[in-house]
Amino acid sequence: MPDDARLRTVDEHLAVVLSSIGSIEPIELTLLDAQGLLLGEDVRADFPLPSFDNSAMDGYAVRAVDTRDASADQPVELRVVGDVAAGAKTRSGMGPGLAMRIMTGAPVPAGADAVIPLEDTDRGLARVAINRPVRSGECIRRSGEDIAAGAPALGAGAALGPQQIALLAALGRDRVLVRPRPRVIVLSTGSELIEVGRTPSFGEVIDSNGYMLAAAAKDAGADARRIGIVADDHAQLLDVLESQLLRADVLVTTGGVSMGAYDVVKEALSELGTVEFNRVAMQPGKPQGFGHLGDKVPIFCLPGNPVSSLVSFEAFVRPAIRKLLGKRQLQRATVQATALEGARSPHGVRQYRRGVLHREAGGGYGVAFAGGPGSHLLASLALSNCLVVIPEEETEVVAGQSVTVMPLLLSNR
Ligand code: AMP
Ligand code: MG
Repeated sequence: MPDDARLRTVDEHLAVVLSSIGSIEPIELTLLDAQGLLLGEDVRADFPLPSFDNSAMDGYAVRAVDTRDASADQPVELRVVGDVAAGAKTRSGMGPGLAMRIMTGAPVPAGADAVIPLEDTDRGLARVAINRPVRSGECIRRSGEDIAAGAPALGAGAALGPQQIALLAALGRDRVLVRPRPRVIVLSTGSELIEVGRTPSFGEVIDSNGYMLAAAAKDAGADARRIGIVADDHAQLLDVLESQLLRADVLVTTGGVSMGAYDVVKEALSELGTVEFNRVAMQPGKPQGFGHLGDKVPIFCLPGNPVSSLVSFEAFVRPAIRKLLGKRQLQRATVQATALEGARSPHGVRQYRRGVLHREAGGGYGVAFAGGPGSHLLASLALSNCLVVIPEEETEVVAGQSVTVMPLLLSNR
């Protein structure tokens, strides 16, 4: 591409990416594996909740009419004809003028229409004195009052957190259809790269991007795997990518996409005609490759500099993973913060600066820049907790100005 060609904006590139991201067929998972995912089916209640009338309190099951004249001064006394505990397998019954001791959650006996809590009685065992009239239905949790048999419980697309998982379990669903975690494969390219755990010789660099991007993909909700390193070698790269196609919903490579003589990712994949290499109006992260391999597996070819690859991941890969998960909110939320120092930013380019965001004592946020503009600076990247996004048209940030900040919150998935 000639150098004076108009750069693609970040938004244009993201639109190209997202328009080609489809969805993954729902799969069945056990409840705890489904946590954090979106439901892939409409779930109805096969039976009502509660499934039987039961007591809301520890107390005595009674007939409300029998307590009509009760007061603290003149309690009504009823004969206690038995106990009902939670877990009672058969429904007990009792006649008029009688009471049964009943525990929370225990089935209400036939013949009773109310429960008087222990604290409104003398707690008697053979006979019980009741200090006040009870309303019919009092302290009884009716079958179906939570959800009726056949009623819709959760719709497809519902996010499964602890509350939703509780309802599914209560309704007897130990497995549900969900939108699965996309399988993301991360491949680092570069002949200088070695595996962590080895001591680098002169000229060697430990692959940190592979770990960073696999962690970022996991954080975004993917089932992420790092498959290691390939040298700057055309044939080897294509072989390794080919071997991963059946295992991946998304492929991510780093390195080898700039203008250098050994930028093999760009050379090798451009030839296939299904992956395009563009220059995007952002800093860092200008060179970006995106396209498809095999049977429409999206592939992101990110630049190799660590900061560039993380920023690229945030700008393009994370939203794609979120779309595959079925999420509605694809972009990270941003906040406005007061810049504690000034900065320059090139015109026409969206700049992402690493920042340290903190909450000000008086409310609101302040943000300091972390590290210089160098895209190789890992130590300052590790100190940062956000990206400061300086829009295309802005060329300067002055101290005290409000800026847009994207906190890089951990998902705790
Ligand atoms: P490239 O995009 O291949 O030209 O790489 C740009 C810079 O990033 C070079 O200094 C590389 O050594 C470095 N780099 C590339 N890949 C990685 C990686 N996986 N981990 C750490 N640094 C890398
Ligand atoms: Mg390289």
